[in-house]
Amino acid sequence: MAQVKRIVLALCVSLSITTAANAKTIDDYANEAVERLSAYLQIDTINPPGNESRGVRYISSLLDAAGIAYETAESAPGRGNLWARIPGTAAAGEDKQPALILLHHIDVVPASRKYWSFEPLSGDVADGFVYGRGAIDTKGLGIAQLQAFLALAASGAELNRDVILLATADEEAGGFFGVGWLIENRPELFSDVGYVLNEGGSGRVFGDQIAVLVEVTQKVPLWLRLTATGRPGHGSAPQMQTSVTRLVRGLKRISETEFPVRVIEPVAIMFEGLAPYQLAIGQPAAPNIRDAVNDSDYLLEMKLRNPGGHALLRNTCSITTLQGSSKINVVPAEAHAELDCRLLPDQDPEAFLRELAAIINDPRITIDKIMGFTPAVSRTDTPLFQVLENVADEFFGATVIPTVAGGFTDSHFFRDLGITSYGYSPFAFAPREFSGVHGNDERLAVEQLRRGVKIYYTVLQQFTARR
Ligand SMILES: [Zn+2]
Repeated sequence: MAQVKRIVLALCVSLSITTAANAKTIDDYANEAVERLSAYLQIDTINPPGNESRGVRYISSLLDAAGIAYETAESAPGRGNLWARIPGTAAAGEDKQPALILLHHIDVVPASRKYWSFEPLSGDVADGFVYGRGAIDTKGLGIAQLQAFLALAASGAELNRDVILLATADEEAGGFFGVGWLIENRPELFSDVGYVLNEGGSGRVFGDQIAVLVEVTQKVPLWLRLTATGRPGHGSAPQMQTSVTRLVRGLKRISETEFPVRVIEPVAIMFEGLAPYQLAIGQPAAPNIRDAVNDSDYLLEMKLRNPGGHALLRNTCSITTLQGSSKINVVPAEAHAELDCRLLPDQDPEAFLRELAAIINDPRITIDKIMGFTPAVSRTDTPLFQVLENVADEFFGATVIPTVAGGFTDSHFFRDLGITSYGYSPFAFAPREFSGVHGNDERLAVEQLRRGVKIYYTVLQQFTARR
């Protein structure tokens, strides 16, 4: 019954924006998204250095035109952030529901023109696509959120919660000038927030089926710097032990260590959920990954053909930078290495550091933390997840699969605060369409964008509707 009532309400809301005098329809908002994304892609917000304030000015102009109030803040010169809020109210006798943030990041990663078949910042619209760095990651998502947000505001519907549009700086470099800075310096912005929808998940096309992947947790980066010390000297008189030999030995131990396999619950659920889709198109699958990992051949095979999937099964460390002497005939007093370690999202980082120190087993090698986040997982038994399931079914006839990401997004900042955060974008990609993210020739299909606005609007309607 409650379900039926919600649907009727949702219908009324959508009618109200289509029947008011001169009102734009949701189709108008969807169509308008194309030229808006094109214009947004032409704004250079490549990080470094970011220059996100340019993007803030553009979004401000669109909010001004719609008569919607917003605030902006620069975390450093040029590093702009913007937020706007549609207020909701509590129904009689009920508490106001926790607010929802729609998050995207304004910055994009660099693009090397020589590997692209078009200008990375052209914003060209041709052959059914909008082309440019950021089309998928994440200006396309940002425009879909913006258009749905504007349509919701224009509908005049009474909302059960506030909806906040948030556009931030610096995600591609760790978010410390964006979400991280806002949480430190504008904590009041997040005081009533219960939910965040961010990048990190999307529909996936498997043959003639679509599954909607919603990211609920991610591996936690723990970036470390190792410093080995020893007596300096001349290269012509080798010593038994130097900073460099110590470091090399420590790194060898790390590189030969396979951290124990541990299948956490969200990873098991993800493998089980994906398996029927993978099998349907003849891809390898492991519906019961907990059993599969007992077979060492399976693990080895997976590491070879699918290192990203394999990395979800254990903590990992990649040795990435090395630094010894700056002169060939000088034995240095210090040698350094940096490790990009990624921990399973329930791993206690301190316990991992102790494990790593025991592996290195050398008191003259110190370990310093460059960056580390706290681990957290968002639950799936929430009303927002329920809405994402309804909408996936409505638009794609698809089920939702909760997933674990190997990389990180800004969602961890919110999960640290106990805010439920989902990686969710309203697009559905075939594997090959996805290759442009951080790669070459990034583009988003015009139809995806248009449909994405409608999907996002439906999510907002359902999640903000008064019962
Ligand atoms: Zn991104």
